[in-house]
Amino acid sequence: MSDKRICFIGAGNMSRSIISGLVSSGYNAALIEASNPSTGKLEALQADFGINVTTDNLAAAKAADVIVLAVKPQLMQQVCEALKSLDLNDKLLITIAAGINAARYSDYFAQPVKLIRTMPNTPMQIGAGMSGMYAPATISDEDKAICNRIMSSGGQAVWVDKESDLNLVIALAGSSPAYFFLFVEAMIKAAADLGMDEEKARTLAQQAALGAAKMLQENPQLSPEQLRKNVTSKGGTTHEAVETFKQGDLPGLVKQAMNNCIARAEAMA
Ligand code: NAP
Repeated sequence: MSDKRICFIGAGNMSRSIISGLVSSGYNAALIEASNPSTGKLEALQADFGINVTTDNLAAAKAADVIVLAVKPQLMQQVCEALKSLDLNDKLLITIAAGINAARYSDYFAQPVKLIRTMPNTPMQIGAGMSGMYAPATISDEDKAICNRIMSSGGQAVWVDKESDLNLVIALAGSSPAYFFLFVEAMIKAAADLGMDEEKARTLAQQAALGAAKMLQENPQLSPEQLRKNVTSKGGTTHEAVETFKQGDLPGLVKQAMNNCIARAEAMA
């Protein structure tokens, strides 16, 4: 796939993250182009990664083998409609937009399109992203490999079997960085209320979060429950805190939050 010309329609945060990952993992920058209406982000992308840039979506899409649709969902229809004069038969389309079903794109482009839907998350900006990908059965293994190469360049990527599972990906990975931020935010606030300065509290809480994430990653043979039990002695300090979370039904609250997240994603589609 290393000779495919990839264009990004929309040069915002997510495109920058993916482009950064692609170029730093050795993809030829000369084969990458980004298109965006304002030029500031384009100039920065060109300076930082040596890619091609343009303000002409149609020309960029025409020249590309792979088109990554990376505008906000509310702009997607008009952006796609402006490309419908192109013959898209041989091109692979990849969308990163939340909440638009794959079938709608063929309507926007007024022709059947080869389209893969993906759902990245913001840690992609630092190479620690987690993306879900859904390809209809008509998509070839070669096209799936291209998509996998692009989406895993800024972290990890996994395929889901059903399009509706992308909503679960949103609840598990797309939205969840904010859950963890909320948890750390609450810990810092509690420490500040107990008299510690916030900067020190943040250092302590974020390093603990990072350590916990690494322990999960580096011990795949141990369940999260087992890892928790390993650091929770009966009658000890951790036990006291964990019991307090259980009494407040933290697991039930997490389930409710994820269900509400999924319901919102379904309502947007
Ligand atoms: P963003 O930073 O706002 O980027 C969107 C870009 O689209 C902007 O640079 C904007 O340019 C450009 N744009 C506007 N109109 C355009 C047009 N007609 N043609 C070409 N480009 C146009 O947004 P983002 O965070 O990268 O999100 C992009 C997509 O990723 C969205 O669909 C979002 O749902 C999806 N997504 C985002 C996240 C996330 O966590 N951020 C996660 C998963 C999926 P100007 O600024 O010049 O107007």
